Formats: sequence, C-alpha cells, structure tokens
Amino acid sequence: MSDQSTSSGSLFLVVAPSGAGKSSLVNALLQQEPAIKLSISFTTRPPRPGEQNGREYFFTSVDDFQARREAGEFLEWAEVFGNYYGTSMLQIADQMAAGTDVLLEIDWQGAQQVKKQFPHAVGIFILPPSIAALEERLKKRGQDESHVITRRILAAGGEIAHASEFEYVIINQEFTVALSELSAIVKATRCRFAQQSARNASLFAQLGIHPNLS
Ligand code: GDP
Ligand code: ADP
Ligand code: 5GP
Repeated sequence: MSDQSTSSGSLFLVVAPSGAGKSSLVNALLQQEPAIKLSISFTTRPPRPGEQNGREYFFTSVDDFQARREAGEFLEWAEVFGNYYGTSMLQIADQMAAGTDVLLEIDWQGAQQVKKQFPHAVGIFILPPSIAALEERLKKRGQDESHVITRRILAAGGEIAHASEFEYVIINQEFTVALSELSAIVKATRCRFAQQSARNASLFAQLGIHPNLS
C-alpha cells in the first residue's frame, strides 16, 4: 500500500467514547462530502435494530473474525466492550492508492496501530460536553441494552484519557458547530502541501514548485 505522502488521498481517524456523536457527525459529513470513502469495519457485535450487514458493519462470527485476522486481512483490529472490531486492509488499500480520502471510525487502540503505518493520518477525537450528556445520549439512542450502556459509560473515562494523542479535538455540544469544525479539518487537510501538490502535479510543475522531500 502506498504511504499518504505519495498519494493525494488523506486518511482520517475519528475516535470518540461511545455516544459522543461520532457516527452522527461522520454521516452528516459524508452528506456534504460524498467523495470521502467510509471504511466499513468487521465486528463480532450483534447488529442493532435497523443496522444492515455491509452498511454500518460487516457482522461476523468470532471464528470468521479470527480466520481473517490470522490471514493478515486487517489493517488494525481491537477488542472493544467484549467484541472484536477490525478494519479490512482490502477495503481501503485501493482507495488510498487512487488518492481517495478515507475515513475510519475506530477506537483509540486501532488509531494507534494505524498511526504507526500511516504517520500522516489525521487523528480527530470527539468529546461529549459532559459524562452526563454521554449517558443521556446513549439512553436516548435506545439501541443498546442497559448493561451494555453501563459498560460503555464506565469505559468512557479510559477512552477520553487518550484524547491527547490526537491532533484535533471537537467538543460535540451544538451539533451544527461540531459538524462545521469537522468539515473545516477535512478542508484544511486537503490544503496540505503534500495533498495539493499530488492533486495538482502539472500546475506545480509549471509553476516550478518542487516537492518538499523533508
Ligand atoms: P459506537 O461507539 O456507538 O459507535 O458503537 P460501535 O459498536 O459502532 O463501536 C464500538 C467501538 O468499536 C467504538 O470505539 C468504535 O470506534 C470501535 N470500532 C468500530 N469499528 C472499529 C474497527 O474497525 N477497528 C477498531 N479498532 N475499532 C472499531
Ligand atoms: P457514537 O457513534 O459516538 O456512539 P451517535 O452518533 O450514535 O454516537 O450519537 C449518540 C446519540 O446522541 C444519538 O442518538 C445522536 O442522535 C445523539 N447526538 C449526537 N450528537 C448530538 C448533539 N450534539 N446533541 C444532542 N444529541 C446528539
Ligand atoms: P459500536 O459497537 O457502538 O458500533 O462501536 C463501539 C466502539 O467500537 C466505537 O468506539 C467504535 O469506534 C469502535 N469501532 C468500530 N469499528 C471499529 C474498528 O474497525 N476498529 C476499531 N479499532 N474500533 C472500532
């Protein structure tokens, strides 16, 4: 797989404690920016009501997940809340090589693994305005059983402790404000020298701008 420095696509890692609004923000971003490719993870968690195989996740068994992991199919994988989650390398390799922006909604453990392989990946951590708000959102979403919600709330502090490992932090209090901040990060990333020069190679050559090899 090519590194980001040699293609014009960017890799975005969106991480948050469960219920902070990660999926809602990412889905709204993708409405505005349909060219971004969202990686669909494999998971052993059972589907929630309304979730469809291949849309939110590829839902699979522990045996199948382990077979894929042993075959080296995952760019990263992690155990989160007692279930396995993993990003398939096959899904994103071609996209990135073609210069497409790719977004991963993963946990902090997965983000650390990806950063080792793609140091230019852009890490974005979504914070809730408070733990009380997180709890309220998880309950209001109404898609997890109460013991699952309790487990996720108890895990939130441990996840939030990793926020300092990320370049960007968004506080999802007012949804529209948080969305505009997420959109601004995407736009700024596309203006990075490496991305602009790869996307506009002939203009850069005409203007005599040389690649920054540092
Ligand atoms: P959510 O937190 O409400 O979005 O609940 P999910 O069940 O969709 O996700 C549970 C956790 O698994 C979250 O921390 C996700 O970011 C994480 N996760 C989802 N997909 C992946 C993946 O492919 N790899 C890794 N490492 N984590 C993932
Ligand atoms: P995550 O993917 O991080 O677990 P979701 O996107 O599923 O979180 O959001 C959790 C719940 O909180 C959903 O019911 C969503 O509609 C709601 N929500 C998201 N952002 C906000 C916000 N800024 N204010 C109030 N509720 C929100
Ligand atoms: P949920 O079960 O609520 O969909 O997701 C729970 C957590 O798992 C979220 O924090 C989500 O970001 C994380 N997660 C989902 N997919 C992946 C993945 O492919 N890899 C990793 N590392 N975490 C994931």
